[in-house]
Amino acid sequence: MIRVTILGTAGASPTKQRNLTSVALAYDGDVVLFDCGEGTQMQILKYGVNSSRIRAIFISHAHGDHVIGLAGLVRTLALNGRKEPLKVFAPRGSEGVVRNLIEFDKAALTYPIEIKGVQKGLIYEGKDFTVSAFKLDHTISSYGYVFKINNKRRFMGDKAKRLGIYGEMFSILQKRGSIRLGKRTIRLTDVTTISLGKKVVYASDTRPTSSTANAARGADMLIHESTYADAESGLARDRGHSTAYEAAMIAKKAKAKKLELIHFSARYKSASGLETEARKVFPNSVAAKDGDVIDL
Ligand SMILES: [Zn+2]
Ligand SMILES: [Zn+2]
Repeated sequence: MIRVTILGTAGASPTKQRNLTSVALAYDGDVVLFDCGEGTQMQILKYGVNSSRIRAIFISHAHGDHVIGLAGLVRTLALNGRKEPLKVFAPRGSEGVVRNLIEFDKAALTYPIEIKGVQKGLIYEGKDFTVSAFKLDHTISSYGYVFKINNKRRFMGDKAKRLGIYGEMFSILQKRGSIRLGKRTIRLTDVTTISLGKKVVYASDTRPTSSTANAARGADMLIHESTYADAESGLARDRGHSTAYEAAMIAKKAKAKKLELIHFSARYKSASGLETEARKVFPNSVAAKDGDVIDL
């Protein structure tokens, strides 16, 4: 099970209800963060994310509302006595911004931090999952991320039994890919199916772009920025953002199962109007709220 905790849903500046952007994913004892806006460490405490389990932080781009929270979080982890290394990913060319936030006051950190420049493709392999990056379309270099649990091969018990496979034959089949039974050859593919691992895609900040639709193909959840309502579509275009309608069009194109809208302009006291606009195109759309927890 993947647990998605929405830590912050504000774009550019916070409101009383919304902290700046960050999303935590927990899976099988590991936690990763997507973006780390100012105040993320408070949200982590408030919404019960286990910060000692954070293995990696993926920064979409070096705008302050997505990255400033790193400064406080890395220091608190040190005060908690962390020893385990932390990886921080940010678009290639913006590693210096991340380094400054980590090193500006020469704070004594108790653990190594590895800063990695991101380009598109596979960038991180966990125990049983991967994270890959894809290009977004914003005013500066910005990347979206795909969190994907590895596909698993499963034996079809009944069929294997019918064909006379039992006991240690399963492990031989798995190792060699086939097994001879009398005159017959049974292949691994004859008695197994592939179950597809779940996929969560994070895209903020960005204009609607086909690279997101491609990355989010069949995703269990697409988390997409939705800074503006339709009435402000001109602003969205000028400032490299998306409207709720545009985010919903991407979810529809990708045939995603669920759309979570985040990164709302402070001009909207409630994001429910944006949710309504998105649902006209993609019914399974939700305007995320800080503290929302979704299990997939
Ligand atoms: Zn932003
Ligand atoms: Zn931005």
